[in-house]
Amino acid sequence: MNRDMDQTRLLAWLRENDPARLEALWRLADDTRRAGVGNAVHLRGLIEISNHCVRQCAYCGLRAGNRALARYRMNETEIVAAARQACALGYGTVVLQAGEDTGLEGHWVARVVRRIKTETGLAVTLSLGERTEAEWAQWREAGADRYLLRFETSDRALFEAIHPGRGGPPADRLAMLARLRQLGYEIGSGIMIGIPGQTFESVARDLQLFRELDLDMIGIGPYIPHPDTPLGRGRVSTAPAGEQVPNVEGMVYKVLALARLLCPEANIPSTTALATINKRDGRELGLQRGGNVWMPNLTPMPYRRLYQIYPAKACLEETADAAHRRLRERLAALGRQAGSGPGSRKRVPAAAPAPAAQVLQCCER
Ligand code: SAH
Repeated sequence: MNRDMDQTRLLAWLRENDPARLEALWRLADDTRRAGVGNAVHLRGLIEISNHCVRQCAYCGLRAGNRALARYRMNETEIVAAARQACALGYGTVVLQAGEDTGLEGHWVARVVRRIKTETGLAVTLSLGERTEAEWAQWREAGADRYLLRFETSDRALFEAIHPGRGGPPADRLAMLARLRQLGYEIGSGIMIGIPGQTFESVARDLQLFRELDLDMIGIGPYIPHPDTPLGRGRVSTAPAGEQVPNVEGMVYKVLALARLLCPEANIPSTTALATINKRDGRELGLQRGGNVWMPNLTPMPYRRLYQIYPAKACLEETADAAHRRLRERLAALGRQAGSGPGSRKRVPAAAPAPAAQVLQCCER
């Protein structure tokens, strides 16, 4: 199977609107998920440790230029307490996420990671943006297990337009992911769906890249406009007519399902952004169309509403404990159960799941 043929098939699926065909895609993605990663839904407690940011990303409400946002940074005690709560709720992992905050000093982050590892034994995922190699190495040595850094879009020109550099050469997030892998991290990346200027061609390439990078984790969510950002104030799409990917729920499921077919063993969350655009059952549908991870929010309430990467985020209504009680019921209703242990990526022997090329072929349109 060559790359061009895959690209053609992926494009056709991304443009597919026939309900019966889409049903077949959802079913295939769900079967592939079951064969590749089983029925467990791994729970990762998300702790949004700071909303300070030095960057000017055109899509994100945390951008430095957004003066309307009150800023916070959690202290060590608060972060360790949230990690203990994750442990008490039975989660296997905590994810420490933040804006790109140079105020989170390297040695301080290392100390927090070491404390979480020794006091809770949880797997630790970091999502702290583009930091120095020395810092990544120091955090890995302190015990951090995984690093999330979405490449957001494989369209270089679009990425550079929405993610301005800080004076140096443009960020090469693919090279950064390779470096993180060399350091021994499990690596996660992903994209937003429906960024103004994002074409179907580029999303098909993003999907191929997920497989080429052999990602351990893949995060996919809709782009949600934030009114206090340049993109959210209505930058017009530069995509040719008919080529702009819409930032709608249906597109997110297609990309999620195709990502699962291409990467049967990856850990793929049903994201908060998806749950935000369909608060009723977006989370469930994501888990039924390829997803196997849920990231409940453990950020203390007063901070949670300030971690406003986009507006009206799902998870602002309920405390972690209340959400957790409902989460168990929601999983049971899907016939799934919470995973136990760290839920690391498991490599399945090559023979087990159908290779992506075959999978794409067998559901040929
Ligand atoms: N500073 C870190 C973490 C950013 S928040 C970093 O840059 O890696 C995590 C993800 O939220 C981002 O990678 C982006 O894909 C997503 N995000 C940011 N703004 C968004 C928006 N307006 N709509 C949807 N997703 C958004």
